[in-house]
Amino acid sequence: MAKRDYYEILGVAKNATEEELKKSFRKLAMKHHPDRNPDDKGAEEKFKEAKEAYEMLSDPKKREAYDRFGHAGVDPNAAGMGGGGGAGGFSDVFGDIFGDIFGQGRGGGGGGRSNVYRGADLRYAMEITLEQAAAGFATEIRVPSWEGCETCGGTGAKPGTKPKVCTSCAGQGTVRLQQGFFSIQQTCPTCHGSGKVIPDPCGTCDGVGRTKKTKTLEVKIPAGIDDGMRIRLSGNGEPGVNGGPSGDLYVEIKVKEHTVFQRDGDDLHCEIPISFVTAALGGKIQVPTLHGRAEIELPEGTQTGKTFRLRGKGIKGYRSSYPGDLYAHVSLETPVRLNDKQKKLLRDFETTLQDPKHSPQSKGWMDKVKDFFQ
Ligand SMILES: [Zn+2]
Ligand SMILES: [Zn+2]
Repeated sequence: MAKRDYYEILGVAKNATEEELKKSFRKLAMKHHPDRNPDDKGAEEKFKEAKEAYEMLSDPKKREAYDRFGHAGVDPNAAGMGGGGGAGGFSDVFGDIFGDIFGQGRGGGGGGRSNVYRGADLRYAMEITLEQAAAGFATEIRVPSWEGCETCGGTGAKPGTKPKVCTSCAGQGTVRLQQGFFSIQQTCPTCHGSGKVIPDPCGTCDGVGRTKKTKTLEVKIPAGIDDGMRIRLSGNGEPGVNGGPSGDLYVEIKVKEHTVFQRDGDDLHCEIPISFVTAALGGKIQVPTLHGRAEIELPEGTQTGKTFRLRGKGIKGYRSSYPGDLYAHVSLETPVRLNDKQKKLLRDFETTLQDPKHSPQSKGWMDKVKDFFQ
């Protein structure tokens, strides 16, 4: 089924302000929230749809990507709230909204699974050369990781002490509140959903039960990767909260500018200066490629800006079956710092060029100018 337009879902205009987005989402969330529509699949779908639309549009970066590329520009599954760094993440507003509705902090829509969060995604920026991008390679990166705390064995409690069952929720992690005609299941405010409290937190990990380390990961950069692409290393982001899954690690590729080649998709372009004499008489010139030199034969009378295509000498893209082409753009170099003898030779030579057949472009241009002035 085709995905609906995010603006349409929220019922706002394309140029809606943040405030309008928030207001509209608040209305929809209140209407379709699972706690108010128990066992109503339709409402749940609508709630999820509105939530996704709001998550995307409330993040300026994601909104821009969505405006430019539509659904292809944003991946809701990759929407790590901590990793994106966007101001005003969903969870802020979520707490805010349900604070408004229920008069309490974050309500949680999952009925009993409150406060189970997926870990944040992490980003790792990697700069590579065009040659590396074309050929692919394997490398290692060092990234943060979290390990069970050795001091407390992961319990978070000071050695010799133990976490206790939370008395507010009897270890359930959630409490039920009667509020008007709603009965709301809510994350236990005392233990924040874990069902346990730690009277004496471990000094090494501050009661979290794990410590931050670094680990080395092998990353395979596939041949043909392009600037701006990213590689996902599933489960290597930050750990989840209360048993939630870990986030992902994204290696974002930046390809350095090359001194000779410019890349355009699978094709490469380069500029080759040629002398005025070679241009006039023709001859072989050398063209650099990513795999050594190639030679092309310039015909007599080659004009500046002429492009020669070398088939298959481009890059085989990440998803392509065939390599692209290399385009060599020749540019005529005007000779400089001539001595008197050279200048005289050129002047003498020019007197031999009176016949317009030697200068087809100038002739055509003169005709156009004549027409222009009548
Ligand atoms: Zn510890
Ligand atoms: Zn509790």
